[in-house]
Amino acid sequence: MTAENISEKPLDFIRQIIVKDLKSGKHKTIITRFPPEPNGFLHIGHAKSICLNFGIAEENNSVCHLRFDDTNPGKESPEYVVAIKQDVHWLGFDWGDHLYYSSDYFDKLYDYAVQLIKLGKAYVCNLSSEEMREYRGTLTEPGKDSPCRNRSVEENLQLFEQMKNGELEEGSCALRAKIDMSSPNILMRDPVLYRLIKTSHHRTGDRWCIYPMYDFCHCLSDMVEGITHSLCTLEFENNRPLYDWILDTLNTPCHPRQYEFARLNINYTVMSKRKLLQLVDENHVLGWDDPRMLTISGLRRRGYTPASIRNFCDSIGVGKRDSWINMGVLENSIRDDLNVRAPRVLGVLKPLKVVITNYPENKEEELEAQNHPQNPKLGTRMLPFCREIYVEDTDFLENAPKKFFRLSVGREVRLRYAYLITCREVIKDENGELVELHCTYDPETRGGSAPDGRKVKGTIHWVSARHGIRSQVRLYDRLFTVEHPDMDKEKDFKEFLNPDSLQILDNCILEPSLTAAAVEDRFQFERQGYFCQDSKETTPEKPVFNRIVTLRDSWAKMNKKNK
Ligand code: ATP
Ligand code: MG
Repeated sequence: MTAENISEKPLDFIRQIIVKDLKSGKHKTIITRFPPEPNGFLHIGHAKSICLNFGIAEENNSVCHLRFDDTNPGKESPEYVVAIKQDVHWLGFDWGDHLYYSSDYFDKLYDYAVQLIKLGKAYVCNLSSEEMREYRGTLTEPGKDSPCRNRSVEENLQLFEQMKNGELEEGSCALRAKIDMSSPNILMRDPVLYRLIKTSHHRTGDRWCIYPMYDFCHCLSDMVEGITHSLCTLEFENNRPLYDWILDTLNTPCHPRQYEFARLNINYTVMSKRKLLQLVDENHVLGWDDPRMLTISGLRRRGYTPASIRNFCDSIGVGKRDSWINMGVLENSIRDDLNVRAPRVLGVLKPLKVVITNYPENKEEELEAQNHPQNPKLGTRMLPFCREIYVEDTDFLENAPKKFFRLSVGREVRLRYAYLITCREVIKDENGELVELHCTYDPETRGGSAPDGRKVKGTIHWVSARHGIRSQVRLYDRLFTVEHPDMDKEKDFKEFLNPDSLQILDNCILEPSLTAAAVEDRFQFERQGYFCQDSKETTPEKPVFNRIVTLRDSWAKMNKKNK
């Protein structure tokens, strides 16, 4: 972002705080962090947090740390670490030398826990998790003290050491902060700080069998790294007093501040890693990078550009109130990006053969086509043309209404960049199925206009049958049929999966220039939408193209109709 457009756009509340903190001298540099748990792939919601944290660092010539919050050994894996790093880089951000893991701090965190015990501010509790829940009370009733609450410092130290050494049974005890069992904030009613879990960790192996809880780990990790502004989503608002209590009680050398912003919600999708994992594990999708998933890797494979995702995150802003963003807004971000730069090509998705009966059998010619009619700088290419071509089968209607300006017997249409043709005859097989159309062309109309000035309204796309490349095209629709699939109390979100979210078309014919396409290239197939090659399943023998997005928002149109 340049200084100019920063001043055009009002600063969000977090950036306002940062400006104030720099002005007042509270901070000389700003350090942020993005703290994913490596228990799944990143989704578009994480992109919002990435753009915010790395964006702020960039604007302030400082750094954003990438910290893997790896404190739940059972659910985490190095595979996810690799995928997350790749996704952050792909979005265009870099953490430099500042790659960290919460597990790097296990020794330090243990020492801080011992310190809390020595201060009389933490104790080992033997209540089962169920009993703990009973003792905790409710929003309207205060909790009850645990019978273990008044253990001596010595006893607590000894028990905590035994926990660490694995001498006690998993689940038999936990370390809790000693705060206030009648606090109106339930999170302050002696929260658990450490659990005993005898599971190997993907980085520390079997070295530890106690693992810190998020609330204990996060504030201390922020502090150790000298984070100035610890940005998280609104559901952590109630955790902030605990964040501050731990740092204040331990009297740490610095005290990062936590600020909460509204998480990103998008309709027609689910956005929690747990639910995305279910879709993957139960084979409702092809994997984490299925082009229908709003994971970063899914969006990448679908053909979204990093710029489109960053623009999207920028446009939705950072606020303090939860809201729903329309899926159409995300789709518009890629349309806007590709509209200005994607070269136009011709591709027929559902081919219908057309024989131009008055075109010589062996003749071939090349016609010049613009790569981007609104941007001549993108140049031109040559389209081969011959006696047999394919057109879209929806561009023909046998009993066409008057306003159907496409093919029907006796009607004339323009072949994009080629000639005017007139449909003469419909050829069917013995079962009455349409086989091909016989048309004639007007040799005087090369390039698409008639010397006598006659008006031809319809223009359709086509591909030479002799030269076209056969390919598979995958069309995607929203993965769910309802706006809020995970908000129905009675039904599982998977009951709302859209059975038609993937449509595979196997006989598509594309113009031959696409043989040279690379996986990163994106195209507008005229009249059909934006497409790119699939990074996984395309082969030289059989290219596979994904439709990134349609040209217009067909859902908006449909919703209008329904109203
Ligand atoms: P999920 O609920 O999908 O599992 P999470 O919050 O558990 O997400 P983390 O890996 O802990 O996932 O999140 C890393 C960071 O991304 C956190 O700071 C979190 O607040 C942020 N984040 C996660 N989901 C969203 C979202 N929908 N919008 C904005 N930020 C998000
Ligand atoms: Mg989480």
